[in-house]
Amino acid sequence: MAGPTRVTVWGENVHEHISAAVKKIYPDGMHATIAEGLKKLLGNAVQVRTATLDQPAHGLTEKILAETDVLTWWGHAAHHKVEDVIVDRVQKRVLEGMGLVALHSAHYSKIFKRLMGTGCGLKWREAAEQERVWIVNPSHPIADGLGEYFEIAHEEMYGEFFDIPEPEDLVMISWFEGGDVFRSGCTWRRGKGKVFYFRPGHETFPTYHDANVQKVIANAVKWCAPTVGSPYSLAAPNSKVPLNPIRATHTVDETIHKH
Ligand code: ZN
Repeated sequence: MAGPTRVTVWGENVHEHISAAVKKIYPDGMHATIAEGLKKLLGNAVQVRTATLDQPAHGLTEKILAETDVLTWWGHAAHHKVEDVIVDRVQKRVLEGMGLVALHSAHYSKIFKRLMGTGCGLKWREAAEQERVWIVNPSHPIADGLGEYFEIAHEEMYGEFFDIPEPEDLVMISWFEGGDVFRSGCTWRRGKGKVFYFRPGHETFPTYHDANVQKVIANAVKWCAPTVGSPYSLAAPNSKVPLNPIRATHTVDETIHKH
């Protein structure tokens, strides 16, 4: 693709205003820290903007989405406040080719559940456990430049069973101090778009300041960015005239397909 990848970092931006602990870690909001990490690591290769729940259309107007190549999504306390019309709009853009990076508690966001089609539930425990994120797909572009594993000193635990469709690529598995494991880095394709789910990022820990976490998100943005590809359409046209002549004929009752 010509030009920089246009990234919109979406943040619910609720905890930052109601919790002093969260505000201390993310004074300008979690979305600001995530955006800064992308700018630091990807430089001129990206054009980064942020959007939040409280903005008109949650900051995701038709125009902004049309100008977004990759959307990152962090939400937790206010999933239900995201308007369905915006979820429809984001889903359509993903099907058309926009990348989506779903972060941490976005596992329960309306858009992630819509794209997965499963319950998306998991186990959790907030005990500031150590997390060790193992790379289980070392040649995957999202693992580029990472070690065999990386550690986060304190995080919320997410454990299996994680109710997602079988990932197309399983890139990372987390181990937690308490003994749980979790599929932490997973990819899917929906329509022409690519989706990546990345687990770490509970709001009361400084996870988005972590160099490895920032690296994963930057790699994911690069991986999720649309390519030119081949034509894709959401329509389901009747291809009445075959490319080559065919001998078989069949009389169709056209009224059946009238809606
Ligand atoms: Zn959390």
